[in-house]
Amino acid sequence: MKVLVINAGSSSLKYQIIDMDNEQMICKGLVENVGMKDSNLCHKVPGKKDVVVKKVISNHTEALQTVIDMVTDKEHGVISSVKEIGAVGHRVLHSGEDFNDSVLIDDEVIGICKKNSVLGPLHMPANIACIESCEEVMPGTPMVAVFDTGFHRTMPKHAFMYAIPYDDYENYKIRKYGFHGTSHKYVTGVAMDYLGTDKARIITCHLGNGSSISAVKDGKCIDTSMGLTPLEGVIMGTRSGDVDPAVVEFMAQCHNISVSEVLNILNKKSGFKGICDESDFRKVNELAAAGNEKAKLAVKMFAYRIRKYIGSYYVALGGVDCIVLTGGIGENSIQGRAAIMNGLEFLGIDFDYEKNNQFFTEPVVEVSKPGSKIKVLIIKTNEELVIARDAVRLTAK
Ligand code: ADP
Repeated sequence: MKVLVINAGSSSLKYQIIDMDNEQMICKGLVENVGMKDSNLCHKVPGKKDVVVKKVISNHTEALQTVIDMVTDKEHGVISSVKEIGAVGHRVLHSGEDFNDSVLIDDEVIGICKKNSVLGPLHMPANIACIESCEEVMPGTPMVAVFDTGFHRTMPKHAFMYAIPYDDYENYKIRKYGFHGTSHKYVTGVAMDYLGTDKARIITCHLGNGSSISAVKDGKCIDTSMGLTPLEGVIMGTRSGDVDPAVVEFMAQCHNISVSEVLNILNKKSGFKGICDESDFRKVNELAAAGNEKAKLAVKMFAYRIRKYIGSYYVALGGVDCIVLTGGIGENSIQGRAAIMNGLEFLGIDFDYEKNNQFFTEPVVEVSKPGSKIKVLIIKTNEELVIARDAVRLTAK
């Protein structure tokens, strides 16, 4: 069966078609700058030249139609008609407390997603627009919602509660949810296969533009660094991660701006960007290597915060068998990985700095030395495959 995977962000739409008979990606692409003047689509088919289409794409409905036109295009497409698609898997940001697992989409599910839009006002409307457009373009094709919060729904209450008035949890569902669930789930599965056991204490570090860390016991998430929104946790490209909540009012007063303007700064102008004016970790490292003090500080802050999370999850898990590094930084950044691991020897990590100095193409690489008490694995994540697998699992029922 061929599955179309749709991953809509606030101004983007990523897609893949995966042949689930062999789990091979047939094509993938990205629509960028939806709703802006310079929107465009880049379509990739393995072994072929990339196709770029520049045109004004005003909203996610138009973005989805542009994708469908491309994948069915006579010259560049990979299917002759949408009828070849057996199921669609949608990445949906927020499950709220309504879903414990991925779910087959019907009108009731769409209604609940709309109700939960308040928990993800940037992403949820885009997710819902893509679901509704798919219903129009390919009526009758089963669709599945795979939630970014899904993998974290196993967190115990004492881990996901904020110590705010209990009524605010009951009435407004204000609590920690966690994100990047499909990535944490995927790398957990690969790590357990690699270790040859599903009884393992694993810390998964998804480090990309957005970053989050999870504590996973025997395959189930027991804690994670992101919160009600993806702002909480480690330091990211443009997000501050953890700050004292009182900073919000203080900044609002300092700059004479509103709370939402402060949150915009914490989401989009903080993190690496806020410290050294560069959000891309590769460039932050280049600046640091050239002696830029603020960039050096940004790298140190990033690594230090991650080590603190690893330390606290070591305690939460009652010891650790394996640490997984994934995402753009975890998979690719030699300097980033070394900076994080430097100082964790006392936990029983014998990190192989020499082996780390390479660029890997393998799906799993053990980057700790053979006798290391805690194994460190670099795993290439595959969020789309998790979504496609859930689409197959739920439509087969
Ligand atoms: P997203 O969260 O948007 O999915 P990615 O997982 O693609 O992001 O990660 C993007 C981050 O990974 C950027 O900060 C980028 O600089 C970093 N990155 C990607 N490739 C490399 C590399 N070869 N060396 C260092 N950092 C890299």
